[in-house]
Amino acid sequence: MSKRDYYEILEVSKSASADEIKKAYRKMAIKYHPDKNPGDSAAEEKFKEAAEAYEVLSDDNKKARYDQYGHAGVDNGGFGGGGGFGGGMNMEDIFSQFGDIFGGHFGGGQQRQQTRGTNLRVRIKLNLAEMVSGTQKTIKVKKMKMAAGATSKTCPTCNGTGVQVKVMNTMFGQMQTQAHCSTCQGIGKVADKIPAGANAQGLIKEDEEVTINIPAGAREGIQLNVRGKGNDAPFGGAAGDLLVVIEEETDATIKREGDNLHQELYISFAEAALGTHKEIPTVGGKVKIKVDPGTQSGKILRLSGKGLPSIDSYGKGDMFVHINVWTPQHLSKEQREFFENQLSSGEMVAEPSGQEKTFFDKVRDLFN
Ligand SMILES: [Zn+2]
Repeated sequence: MSKRDYYEILEVSKSASADEIKKAYRKMAIKYHPDKNPGDSAAEEKFKEAAEAYEVLSDDNKKARYDQYGHAGVDNGGFGGGGGFGGGMNMEDIFSQFGDIFGGHFGGGQQRQQTRGTNLRVRIKLNLAEMVSGTQKTIKVKKMKMAAGATSKTCPTCNGTGVQVKVMNTMFGQMQTQAHCSTCQGIGKVADKIPAGANAQGLIKEDEEVTINIPAGAREGIQLNVRGKGNDAPFGGAAGDLLVVIEEETDATIKREGDNLHQELYISFAEAALGTHKEIPTVGGKVKIKVDPGTQSGKILRLSGKGLPSIDSYGKGDMFVHINVWTPQHLSKEQREFFENQLSSGEMVAEPSGQEKTFFDKVRDLFN
């Protein structure tokens, strides 16, 4: 984007004195001040442009470079890195410049309160799969919004400066003190028309749907910051943020322990004796596992890498499947006869080989 000439912006000649430049900027700043041109983005651009021009032309050093090299002489990285002006001032920079030129009494001086809306905090419950792969959630948020039809006017107490200057007579003579304006709380504007239901600042509580993108790898307690989705600021200004706190939904089947996941698998007597295949849920979908013939209750199968992605490394946790052999509780007549036969024949007896792992062995194995 080609930049306009700074002298042209301030409508002064190249030979203008420092005083003339100051006066010219003052005129422009008043004309295009955002308080006088609410919602007018063209005026805001002109306001910023004038501030940038003044920033350079009011500085002897920068002005000399600008006169010799043009914009290249004062833009960052253009001329020897000598503290060139970066271009594109934000409003705060501009207002802070006003202290010098308007003696701190002009609207939007550095005392003016930042009119930012307050932050809102919500909690979102995610299940394990959503935490692993990330998700998108649309939620309804109750927030303070600018009521339709609410209008503001310049605060009559401070004339929009947000500041009250008090002159006090002291033993040292007259002293000036500055404080936030008590009428507008430093905002510089007060309500003009307030629709029914809105508060004194023109804000009204309303529901708004917000869609939140939750990145993969979220964890319980993590807070996401959605900019500008909090409460509106009274009479313009940026809205606050929506702070989203992640909560872990308890899973009936899968329990989390760090990056590792655990679940119980129940198999029947017959399945334990004959062996079987089972489908079990994991965060990445169903997985088929093999249960060997002769599997004992309490055996733990480890599915490597089927846990959660580790937050502080590239690894993944594991899924542990705890096998429980289900003892039948209601036997049919045939089943009862079968087991009675087994018992009397002495065929079906517990015969541990001595190699079976105890509970403590298994726990130790998990961590090796
Ligand atoms: Zn005020």
